[in-house]
Amino acid sequence: MSAATKHANVHVIRHPLAQAILTDLRNKETGQIAFRKGLVKVGRLTAYEIIKSFPVKEVYVETPLKVKAKGVRVPDLDHIVIINVLRAAMSLVEGLLKSFPLARQGVLAVQRIEEKEGIENIKAIKYFVKIPKFNSEDIIIIADPMLATGSTILEAIDEVYKVGKPKRLIVSSVISCEYGVNKLMEKHPEVELYTLAVDPDLNPHAYIVPGLGDAGDRSFG
Ligand code: URA
Repeated sequence: MSAATKHANVHVIRHPLAQAILTDLRNKETGQIAFRKGLVKVGRLTAYEIIKSFPVKEVYVETPLKVKAKGVRVPDLDHIVIINVLRAAMSLVEGLLKSFPLARQGVLAVQRIEEKEGIENIKAIKYFVKIPKFNSEDIIIIADPMLATGSTILEAIDEVYKVGKPKRLIVSSVISCEYGVNKLMEKHPEVELYTLAVDPDLNPHAYIVPGLGDAGDRSFG
């Protein structure tokens, strides 16, 4: 177990289907359409994992046979706000929305600027932020497929906290790396991370290694 995965709020999704999709996403032979479809599937599977942590309420319904059947409702499903980190998160969000169809949505458009080589010199410049109003019953999910230096996620968290304090703040990523996870957890141990992998390295241009390349370019060409 790596140091980053020891944080109590880091959840690595080890479901074999999720890991098989991740393998296709990592593969440089996977083309644009298959790549986007893979991200949609990851979004849906990540939502299933997140929902496992939601409390359920016992209910009874009457079936067409006029008998009562015991079942459950998941009240938190009515309290989801998804923040889409543009542009790379678009397909991931499409998948999350399949399981959270009632979610309200916000967007955060951030551009990575590499002033000079070296991961400390990569800046996240915000140029559009729109976060819906939410209250302390709401659960915010920030979707960003790659948690690399952590600078984008930290910006996104600051923007969320400018609006209020949600019941839970969750980050959904496909691949994270040790550096970014440690930075996130040092500053915001209350944030819960759902990811399919925590890779060991970042290259000098802040790409995750082994990673999957540039998630935006691979999705949109
Ligand atoms: N963003 C990407 O798209 N890929 C990385 O490896 C890191 C950040």
